[in-house]
Amino acid sequence: MLSRRDFLSGAAGGVAAAAVATTTTDAGAREAKPMPDHALGLLFDGTLCIGCRACVAACKEANGMPPERTMLEGGDYWDAPLDLSGKTLNVIKCYRDGAGTRKDEVNDGFAFTKTSCMHCVDPSCVSVCPVSAMTKDPVTGIVKYSLEACIGCRYCVAACPFGVPRFTYDEAFPRINKCQLCEQRHADGGYSACAEVCPTGATLYGRVKDLQQEVARRKALTPGAKTTYPRGRLGNGDSYQGVAKRYVDHVYGEKEIGGTQVLHLSGVPFELLNKPKLPLDAPARVAETLQGAIYHALMAPIGFLGALLALAYRHMRPADPPLERGVEPGASVKAREKGGEP
Ligand code: SF4
Ligand code: SF4
Ligand code: SF4
Repeated sequence: MLSRRDFLSGAAGGVAAAAVATTTTDAGAREAKPMPDHALGLLFDGTLCIGCRACVAACKEANGMPPERTMLEGGDYWDAPLDLSGKTLNVIKCYRDGAGTRKDEVNDGFAFTKTSCMHCVDPSCVSVCPVSAMTKDPVTGIVKYSLEACIGCRYCVAACPFGVPRFTYDEAFPRINKCQLCEQRHADGGYSACAEVCPTGATLYGRVKDLQQEVARRKALTPGAKTTYPRGRLGNGDSYQGVAKRYVDHVYGEKEIGGTQVLHLSGVPFELLNKPKLPLDAPARVAETLQGAIYHALMAPIGFLGALLALAYRHMRPADPPLERGVEPGASVKAREKGGEP
């Protein structure tokens, strides 16, 4: 017959073996997510941007965003947003050094950059949302927000490595706001308002695969050579003649945190444009791999505890019989102490 000692040592050994097996096989690293074949996105080429901010105004109009008051030294201005907010989904920022007279130069220069949702291939905001209010479209890859599903926890705000989602604290019924690539315009044949209005093609809309080819073409050009720049939606035929630019050797958004659907070209280093320096691995993949490992590691001790409880239950002595109605607990002992009948 199996002794209690044999049972315990056997159970512990089995559970330990299971724990090792699960943490090294089932709980292996989660696969990196691929870019959807028909992913849509934007290419922002800072060397073509003239800082007109027409894209900021068009974004507001297309998304029904109200103007906001911007407080600046020496006075305040209406709707001159310096950063993203609950009322601003897209903003153009400027780097400036010294005299600030030389476009796309580091010293005594200036340069523009765009800030909006990057539509990450493996988005942290989607990974952390407990109610799937943030979702990634499997076809277009657009990262969308559902007001109906949102519970206002703001995990997405904390998780986004680009600091994109904003919560409308000043509203009676607050919500998250962020760029959704103007998806509401797609059904009528429209596309991102920022790209549509951009006079120089600095913001260009299209399939990410086509935008990547356009990036490769621009990078291969000799600076100063004549070239054609597409405008609006890539492939719609709208273009103009320009001169090839000099770029830093980095396409921001191409590889950061597992890749994004918004690509940036620049003539100055992205650190100067305050773009966060990020790892290549998606935080969502790392976090979900860790969660899986912890879950699997916890299942073994829980199973062991369950086995112990089952064993303890089987060896429990029968419960004391229920007390008779009206008999005080310990009454027989008290009666004996007084010399009476038990
Ligand atoms: S509309 Fe185009 S050129 Fe004007 S600020 Fe926006 S990206 Fe730059
Ligand atoms: S940039 Fe931020 S909000 Fe946009 S998809 Fe990536 S994690 Fe989500
Ligand atoms: S795609 Fe639409 S919502 Fe996004 S930045 Fe451009 S205009 Fe704004």
